[in-house]
Amino acid sequence: MPYAITQLCCTDASCVAACPVNCIHPTPDEPDFGTTDMLYVDPRTCIDCGACAEACPVDAVLPVETLTGPLADHPAINAEYFAGTEPAAPAEGSPLFHDWGPVRFDRVLPADFPRLDVAVVGSGPAGMYTVQDLLLHTTARVTLYDRLPVTGGLVRFGVAPDHADTKRIGDSFARYLDHHRLRLRLGTEVGRDVDAGELAARHDAVIYAVGAPTSRTLGVPGEDLAGHLPSTTVVGWYNGHPEIAADAVPLDTERVAAVGTGNVALDIARILAADPDRLAGSAIAPGALERLRASLVREVVLLGRRGPEHAAYTRGELHALLRRDDLEVVVDDHDPRVGEAIDAAAPGEHAALLQGVPRSSEVPAGPRRRVVLRFHAPIEALLGDERVTAVRAGGVDLPAGLVVRAIGHRGRPTAGLPYAEETGTIPHHAGRVDGRPGTYVVGWIKRGPGGGIGRNRRDAAETVASLIEDGKYGVIGARPRRGGLLRRLTSM
Ligand code: NAP
Repeated sequence: MPYAITQLCCTDASCVAACPVNCIHPTPDEPDFGTTDMLYVDPRTCIDCGACAEACPVDAVLPVETLTGPLADHPAINAEYFAGTEPAAPAEGSPLFHDWGPVRFDRVLPADFPRLDVAVVGSGPAGMYTVQDLLLHTTARVTLYDRLPVTGGLVRFGVAPDHADTKRIGDSFARYLDHHRLRLRLGTEVGRDVDAGELAARHDAVIYAVGAPTSRTLGVPGEDLAGHLPSTTVVGWYNGHPEIAADAVPLDTERVAAVGTGNVALDIARILAADPDRLAGSAIAPGALERLRASLVREVVLLGRRGPEHAAYTRGELHALLRRDDLEVVVDDHDPRVGEAIDAAAPGEHAALLQGVPRSSEVPAGPRRRVVLRFHAPIEALLGDERVTAVRAGGVDLPAGLVVRAIGHRGRPTAGLPYAEETGTIPHHAGRVDGRPGTYVVGWIKRGPGGGIGRNRRDAAETVASLIEDGKYGVIGARPRRGGLLRRLTSM
């Protein structure tokens, strides 16, 4: 099997389009697409051409023989996805290659299509896939707004600094930043510097890609104690977010409790428990690295409210963590349901990922820092006077001087736009904001805070398709725009 996809897969399916033999699945046309952790190369049909590796924006597709260390399991992970299936048949009349069929252009603009002026608000992955789509498939002039003085959003400030390949997708977005039809308005916040009504009056269309910037709250006593932080603070801290101070994360404690078992909790545990020398060549903020070198943290405990069968981390991320040689990973088996679920799991089931991982009752804490996975531990309270000293979870008090809640994100309302409190999203149909012709959404504020970076590519395509449709039928682009906004913003 010559190539395999690794856990860095962004699922934007660039590789699927490049593969001449249809060996990468699920494809965007298949029902599983968007539900699997990543995409997979079928080892039975891969012809070792490397086209997928060339097309991958995050360098997640690699020759099998180069996969060692944390990535060594990936050939098996790829092969397992196809277990029990027949290899995809080669296209008729062509022993090897796809029959691509007649050339089809889904995005044909009529000759009288208006020259649109479009604002995109937010320069994270959802905003940048949207900018890319608009610049490549329409004649629109685009103004990109971001509240921060730099572009990148979650690619810059959310992806862990040791995931260099994932961060590299920022390079593929960066090439659009000096496109002649793009204007940048950085350091401009909607709601503070400009309001939604003003933007709508000055542009033919406004696309909000403002994400889900806040952390969900726990809703338990003690939540406001010092030493309890949202994941956004910790992740922003190690990524050098301009609004987060270098001393925002106290590391003068031996144990950190991270609430949640998603990939964000795993990222935080890995960075806080890593050997700082391993992080030295990464994109970590220098101030954070300096503090990690002086850190007293020996153990990061992930607290899952349900069992290992319901852990939210993806398989590839867990595998990579288990293969680290600078830290230990241990399953806390104080609750008998944990060991039972892991032992009873059939191959391929989520809990089976932890088979073979040492259990805390079997291994005493050693000299290496460790990450402990503790399940059936719902949070009941954070304890302490002014600063947190322990967390009560599943009826047990666990001493910890830092508690990070990594329990998912939440959108926030934008003044002048509708907002669904229950989901933390802006209500829409195919990206068109309800009751606001000419206003659109994309990304986490559209579909809720889940899914990796590449998921935004199809999401952006849907929203831009709606915008093009509206341009064709005169819903947008037919009324005069008010000028002056950019002059006002520039002079601020
Ligand atoms: P997530 O995957 O939704 O995980 C949230 C975790 O918090 C779950 O374990 C959930 O448990 C738990 N939780 C929620 N409410 C809780 C509560 N009140 N008390 C205790 N636990 C609670 O969220 P995320 O980790 O923030 O990740 C967001 C998205 O970004 C995901 O799609 C993720 O894969 C992606 N991401 C990917 C990477 C990567 O590929 N390397 C890195 C970072 C993020 P329940 O299941 O019981 O609700």
